[in-house]
Amino acid sequence: MRRAAFLDRDGTLIEDAHYLAHPGKIRLVPGATDAVRALRDAGIAPIVVTNQSGIALGHLDAATYEVIRASVEQRFADAGAPLLATYHCPHHPDVTGPCRCRKPGLGMYEQAVADHAIDPAQSLFTGDRRRDVEPALAFGGFGILVPSPDTPEEDIAWAEREAAAASSLEEAVARYLAWLAM
Ligand SMILES: [Mg+2]
Ligand SMILES: [Zn+2]
Repeated sequence: MRRAAFLDRDGTLIEDAHYLAHPGKIRLVPGATDAVRALRDAGIAPIVVTNQSGIALGHLDAATYEVIRASVEQRFADAGAPLLATYHCPHHPDVTGPCRCRKPGLGMYEQAVADHAIDPAQSLFTGDRRRDVEPALAFGGFGILVPSPDTPEEDIAWAEREAAAASSLEEAVARYLAWLAM
């Protein structure tokens, strides 16, 4: 069984451009490639899990999403920090109805666990929203919020109460690795 780091995309690995629809607008969050490299060095599989309701809402189509996914993965690979896989939820409840994959639902995590023989109870769950961290409580893994400029105050308060919060992805990774070593 492998350990994984389940990483949010927008506002965590790349700046949140709000329904990013052009690969030319991809901006990596400073330190994100260093954090992913630290995970790799520790034998942790970096896996992206991202809600992409812009597809259901018509802000971008599935083919454009795939171009952006491939471009993000290429940027991390070029930095010596390859991502193992990316899972996305293309739905929006108002348009496509309820689904099992939209975070904080567990569908994407369960699929990744099955695809890559992951032990979720030994894995990291991180991102800039409560929904990125909350699955850690269901799986028994390590959940930690890394606020972005868009993170609601109530998400920060929730994380400080129920999980943890860090000021950067690198700090979140360091605290996860310390938790593993306990
Ligand atoms: Mg986010
Ligand atoms: Zn979905």
